[in-house]
Order: sequence, then structure tokens, then C-alpha cells
Amino acid sequence: MAEAGSFADKVKQQADIVRVVGEYVRLKKTGKDFSGLCPFHQEKTPSFTVSPIKQIFYCFGCGKGGDVYNFVMDMEKCEFPEAVKVVAEKCGIAIPRQKERSPEERKENQQRSVLVEMHREAQTFFVKQLEGTPEGKAALAYLEDRGLDKDAITRFGIGYAPSGGDLLLRHLKPKYSDKLLVDSGLVSRDQSAGRLFDRFRRRITFPISNESGKIVAFGARALGDDMPKYLNSPETPIYSKSNVLYHMDRAKEALRRQDFAILVEGYMDAIAVARAGISNVVASCGTSLAEPQIKLLGRFTRRVIVNYDPDTAGQAATERSLSLLLEHDFEVRVLALPPVGNKKADPDLFIREKGADDYLKLLKEAPPYVDYLIARARQMDLTTGEGKQRALNFLLPYIQKIPSGILRSEWATRVAQQLRIDEPLLRSALTKAAKERRSEIKRQPELLGRAAKPVERRLIRMLAEAQGFRQELAKELQNARLYHGLETEKIFAALVIASLSGQPLQAAEVGAALEERDRRLLFEILFEEANEPTWEEAMSCIEALQHRHAERELADVQRSIEANPGAPELRGLLEKKQELMRRLAAAR
Ligand SMILES: [Zn+2]
Repeated sequence: MAEAGSFADKVKQQADIVRVVGEYVRLKKTGKDFSGLCPFHQEKTPSFTVSPIKQIFYCFGCGKGGDVYNFVMDMEKCEFPEAVKVVAEKCGIAIPRQKERSPEERKENQQRSVLVEMHREAQTFFVKQLEGTPEGKAALAYLEDRGLDKDAITRFGIGYAPSGGDLLLRHLKPKYSDKLLVDSGLVSRDQSAGRLFDRFRRRITFPISNESGKIVAFGARALGDDMPKYLNSPETPIYSKSNVLYHMDRAKEALRRQDFAILVEGYMDAIAVARAGISNVVASCGTSLAEPQIKLLGRFTRRVIVNYDPDTAGQAATERSLSLLLEHDFEVRVLALPPVGNKKADPDLFIREKGADDYLKLLKEAPPYVDYLIARARQMDLTTGEGKQRALNFLLPYIQKIPSGILRSEWATRVAQQLRIDEPLLRSALTKAAKERRSEIKRQPELLGRAAKPVERRLIRMLAEAQGFRQELAKELQNARLYHGLETEKIFAALVIASLSGQPLQAAEVGAALEERDRRLLFEILFEEANEPTWEEAMSCIEALQHRHAERELADVQRSIEANPGAPELRGLLEKKQELMRRLAAAR
């Protein structure tokens, strides 16, 4: 992130993380470090710590951690360049004028700001159409029918795209070139005649903003029976649908305060929920969630209640989104709304018919995703063995994704009871699936990090801060390949590389390159109480690792011997065993 010698790097060197964080969090000195109540999750006793020596922060509660920039990015909900600016300003460091960009970059930036401006103008145009034309008034009546009053219409910037076919085009044409108009997605070009016309016609328009609140696209709902019912802006230089969550710009604060998000499908749903006074709602505006959207959401909270439509598409979308959310370590609950009368209810319909209080009540009771999935599996035919197998196959991939072994085991018992499946059978299926998963390329490490042995923790700490000998230690570890196969292997690998460089450790950057669990473990270790490390201690830790390494090898050899008692290589194996046992005995 902050490249050596860059302005960001200079600011980081001069900035004091304790001072910057202290502007947001009341910090108390505890030993070498400072602690306070975490601003990223609700807590009553401090688990948020800041180290002035390492210039990093870490929360033992929610796992957030990093350097001063990570903190400001999370706090201010901004990107890296913005965070550098904020920190520089707080520390009274003059910000240099922006470097001249390449001509292409400049052109692209310019184009983007022109497109944003064009969307602003289109928004004004759509709103005026709704209020001031006969056609718009008819649309207004339709909206009122759907329970949207004047307040809501203003609040969410709802407008109307007239049926004329080129009214917006004529409005924008004097100011913008044909190419820009087409690039904006607001105007389309007739393929055969090459003529331009409005993309949205006879539709209610909903402005879609990016997270900083700039309108970058529109969603539009047909007024009559026109197809498609919903039509959105295409992908443009300023809009990619997988990067944007509808209502995110307004939900940010509430997401952080309440530390959970309600995820709905469409803008009408998000509007209905927000109007019910629940502002931590966002819509994926597509049938399922995309990875960049999850990353965006993850900057604000890792707890989600999924409330998609109850139809088949909605169910499929729920299940796809579940997988993705679980893979990204989200805590997920699912709200499946009961039908209203004989109609399947999306959030919009439900709130309109039943009211906000009923919705809130159901929201609070929304079950963890596994309960939802068990309920879904129980709808399958469980009277035959085949049916049970199908139900099990449906559930297994999700259960596999539960990070904690204890929880996974509890769920296994519940699934067995509820689906009336023999429990040992289920467990063996789980184990088998787990083995297959491990061989997949995209390996999800289980929650093993916490089990890191004291010796590993100690060595990690030394690699991070033993100024006198961390380079030497890194060489030792690398030569003997002692950390290979350990649960902490990736942390070691990253630290060894960093230590060999001879530069002081940039903990936040090493952490950023690691997977979430490893990053958390690294930060936990860095904040543990510890004595000054010595080279002698380092050597005894290495010996302990060698010992464990030999034990593992011995166990492997023993297994091979037992597996093929008659094998020709038995002699070699036995010799190896003797030699390992000698080594282990000598070490005692
Ligand atoms: Zn926290």
C-alpha cells in the first residue's frame, strides 16, 4: 500500500497512530499499548488495542486491525488515497499537488466526471417529469397506489422517464456529444438506422448511487405491462452492477452502528424497509450477490440477514448468496417471509400489508442460515433413501463452510435428528466431503490458527520484532524448512520473506497479504504480552519445531509400515524409523 519513499509512506512515518486513533476513540494507556472501546463493534469492555511501537491497531473482539490508513479507511469509509489525505491533514503535513497523470488517465477521469454530471442532469429531468407533466402525474398516482407518499418519492429521488422516446435525448443533446450520450447508457443507438433514442421510456426511475452518494445509474420499473418489468442501466465507465449495492450510500452509518445488514433483492424492497425506519438495508439489484458487493459490504459489517423474494428465483439467489457470504466469513441469518393472504411476500408487499412492526419482529427472529437450510431440506421427499441422500447432498456443502468444528458437529447432530438420518452415517459423509474439499484448489483453512502452539507463537513474535536477529532467524527457519506443514505456515512464510529483506516489519502490510484467519492470528500474537526475545530462546524454539517435525515423520513412517507389512521397501522404512527414534531420544 504505502510504497517506500512515496508520500503515503512519508505521512505514515510522521503520523502517530495513537494520536490519529485518539481522535475517534478514547484511549487509555495499558502497559506499552493503548486500549479503548472498539469503534467497529458494540462492546462494554475494551478489546481494541493500539501499539505506538508497531504503529498498528487490533481488536480482539471483531478482528479488525491494521495500520493508521486501514483505521481511517474503515472509520471514514473511504479509499486509500483519501485516507492518506485525512491522516496528512490531521498531522499538519502539506499535501503535494497531484502528480500529472498520463493523457489517457486524464481523459478517462474527465469522461467519468462528465458522465456523473450527465446523470445528475438526467435525475433532475426525471423528477421534473414526474411532478410537472400529465403523463408523470399518472405515474405519481400509480406510486401512491403502491403506498409511496410524496416524502418517500422525494427522499429516494424517484422520477419518471416519459414515453416520447427522445425527450431526455433532446434535453441532453445540446451539451453532450453523441458518443458520450451512448457511453452513459442513458441513450441507446438503433442498430439498423443508427438513430439515437432514450433507453428508459414510460418507466418509473430510481437513481442508483455509488457508495459516496453520486448517481451512477438508474433502475427503471415499467409502468404498465411493458417488458422487461425492471430495466437497469448497462455497464458503463462509471457503473458496474457487481460493484454497487443500492442504498449503500445512505446505509453506511446505520450499518456501522448496528453492525448488521439486511440484504434484499430490489430497490422497491430496500425503499420499503428503509421507510419502515430500518436504514441498514441494501439491495443487490440483481438476483444474486457478486463478490465485489460482498467485499464492499464487508467493510461495514460481517453480519447479514438475507431477505430475498420467496419465489424460486429468490430461493436460488438466497442459496447462492449464502455460499458466497459464508466463504467470506459472514455470519448469516435468513428471513423467509410468510405469505400474505395467498400471495408470496417480498419485503415491499409484506410491509405494506402487515406493517413495519410485524416485519421488525420477524427480522429479530430470523433464524441462522443452517435452520433455514434444514427447513428447505425438510420440504424434500424424505421417505425414501434416495430422497434423504438428495437432502443431504443439498446441505453438506453449507455445513462444510461452518468454520468452527464444534459448531459443525452440533449442526450435524441437528441435521441427523431433523432429517432422521443415521448420525454416524452423516458424520462419515461430512468427513469424506471435508477430505474432498481439502483437495480442491480453493482451500478454506479451518479455524486452526487458534490452535497455534506456544512455540510457533513465540517464533512469529520474534520474526516480527527481534531487531537484533530476525534476519538470522528467518534464514535458519527457511533452510530447515521447519514451518512447512504447520497450521501457521503461511504466516511464517510471509514473515520470513519480510525479515530476510532486512527492513523493519510493516505488520499491516504483511497482514493484508494474508487470509483473514491468518491475519487475525498474526495480530493477536503481536499484541500478546511478551518478554524481550533472546537468540537462545529462539534456538530452543527451533529445536522444539525440529522435534515435532521428527515426530510427524515418525508417525508417517509407522503408518506406511503398518499399511504394507510385506512391501519391498519395508527394510528402508524400518531403518528410517530406527534413525528417527534415535534422534528423538537424543533430543530428550
Ligand atoms: Zn472490534
